[in-house]
Amino acid sequence: MPYVARRVPTTEEKRNARVLFNRLEKLYPKIGTALDYEDAWQLLVVTVLSAQTTDENVNKVAPHLFARWPSPDALAAANPEEVEEVIFSTGFYRQKTKSIISLAADLVEKFDGVVPQDLEELVTLRGVGRKTASVVLAEVWDYPAIAVDTHVRRVTNRLGLTDESDPVKIEFDLMALHNKKTWSGISMRYIQFGRDVCDARRPRCWECPLADRCQYPDKNPPP
Ligand code: SF4
Repeated sequence: MPYVARRVPTTEEKRNARVLFNRLEKLYPKIGTALDYEDAWQLLVVTVLSAQTTDENVNKVAPHLFARWPSPDALAAANPEEVEEVIFSTGFYRQKTKSIISLAADLVEKFDGVVPQDLEELVTLRGVGRKTASVVLAEVWDYPAIAVDTHVRRVTNRLGLTDESDPVKIEFDLMALHNKKTWSGISMRYIQFGRDVCDARRPRCWECPLADRCQYPDKNPPP
């Protein structure tokens, strides 16, 4: 899907977004996924495995998985029962086994086993949505892409950067607000901020460095 801005933001809205991003950059000068990976292929796989579990759990399992099936070709030809045994502790292991084997097969069939550096091509792979594709593009190649997960959705809505709930619409709202050069660094910072400060149930508004610009009406007082 080509990028289409739904509404052109005002200069003041863009300035506000830049101030917020600058503060987040100060808070998190360096940011990246906590998932361990060596290349785009591995990041795709560990991202699938990370659903409904912690990154730590995935990091324990991934080295065994990639030692045994080191390439998309190898994993595409793997015995599912053997893969299930290896990734068992990440939960939903049957579904995840199916997903990563079909992802591997798809990658081999469509792209000769090489992960494409293009969002529209990435999302043609089975099990790869815009969020995963954007994570890979931004993380591995520093390409301008914004992944919208539950943290990004919550935080940007509370801050008033968007009033959408659909991830694709939020992605486009954020792209319209932020300078393209910063896109690859946006998601991970909002995700970390959502985990550390702007918690889903109990946001720590009393110590939030963005509070003066936040439009959330139910800000929490100190405990
Ligand atoms: S003031 Fe509260 S709701 Fe707003 S961004 Fe900060 S923690 Fe989140």
